[in-house]
Amino acid sequence: MIRYGQQDITQADIDAVIAVMKSVNLTQGPAITQFEQSVIAHCGAKHAVAVNSATSALHIACLALGLGPGDLLWTTPNTFVASANCALYCGAQVDFVDIDPQTWNLSPQALEAKLIAAEKAGCLPKIVVPVHLTGQPCDMKAIHALSQRYGFKIIEDASHAIGGRYKGESIGSGRYSDITVFSFHPVKIITTAEGGMALTNSDELAIRLGLLRSHGITRDPDLMTQSMDGPWYYQQVALGFNYRMTDIQAALGVSQMTRLNSYVARRHEIAQRYNQLLADLPLTLPWQHPDSYSAWHLYVIRLQLDKIQRTHRQVFEALRAKDIMVNLHYIPIHTQPYYAKMGFKSGDFPEAEKYYSEAISIPMFPTMTEAQQDEVIAVLKEALGA
Ligand SMILES: *Cc1c(COP(=O)(O)O)cnc(C)c1O
Repeated sequence: MIRYGQQDITQADIDAVIAVMKSVNLTQGPAITQFEQSVIAHCGAKHAVAVNSATSALHIACLALGLGPGDLLWTTPNTFVASANCALYCGAQVDFVDIDPQTWNLSPQALEAKLIAAEKAGCLPKIVVPVHLTGQPCDMKAIHALSQRYGFKIIEDASHAIGGRYKGESIGSGRYSDITVFSFHPVKIITTAEGGMALTNSDELAIRLGLLRSHGITRDPDLMTQSMDGPWYYQQVALGFNYRMTDIQAALGVSQMTRLNSYVARRHEIAQRYNQLLADLPLTLPWQHPDSYSAWHLYVIRLQLDKIQRTHRQVFEALRAKDIMVNLHYIPIHTQPYYAKMGFKSGDFPEAEKYYSEAISIPMFPTMTEAQQDEVIAVLKEALGA
């Protein structure tokens, strides 16, 4: 069986985890800071706040930026539900911006058109969440320019994109956004089992993210609103959560970070080999913008259905029947029943829907061998009837 994505755990990872388990601090210890510092060092951001998932990171990122009832958050329909749900957690509303047919990311042209209409209607978004789908960065410069003109904040959902670069700078540098979020779920680029992180260059946002991660409680006298009663004293100054990562997870993260660059380099090799060996098939392959160095979390093919005698579902099922555990990223969020109840319907975002009717994520992970890749390609050719 060849899965679409898979973690790589080495003996060094296991040793790092065991060392924490034998130490005093299983949580709230030094491994958290170490992990945050290693991600900061890689990305070039000023602050990082490790949490228990990217979903939690998105939630506290929205709260830190002041999202609440009466506010709007816009994102792409072609993403995991968490990119939109974060707004609903805050009592805000969600709307979507269709994708670019070439990059499959949120379209800056569609965003601009929707902003012009929203300004006239008096319903501009407070936050826009671009998602670096498959690890290919969005056109952040264009989105950032629009944020200056229309006054919205930007959270980059970079769950697919740690290790990637945009215009030569690491994703997470925060040059074109307020907060960047990473996921460390096992199928992502590096893993902490469950885990996420929020990065920012703002001192103020970093303080708020830190408070929201842990109950809104502080032991820092500078953040307290009344004087300390004594050395035991802590103060709750906001309503936060327990979104903390454990030191066991953070130690795994520190160990995984040492292989981030080699993982992404290997993903590039696999992608290039797919590009060559799939070039003559009735497929649209993932086009890459010259400004982007993708983290290649996913390798997505789109079937040219007018050129084959099979349906999308038949090709997908033929691959699965031969133990090629392909997947589909993503079902357009606005077509999910929970979102349909809010009034969204099929036809609202046609590019994302067309993508969904053709896309298949084929196996892509750094430990994939050439033999495994050859098998994927052979089964795919058969499945296409090519
Ligand atoms: C995986 C993923 C998330 C959620 O990450 P978790 O760490 O599992 O909470 C959010 N957005 C995107 C685009 C993802 O791929």
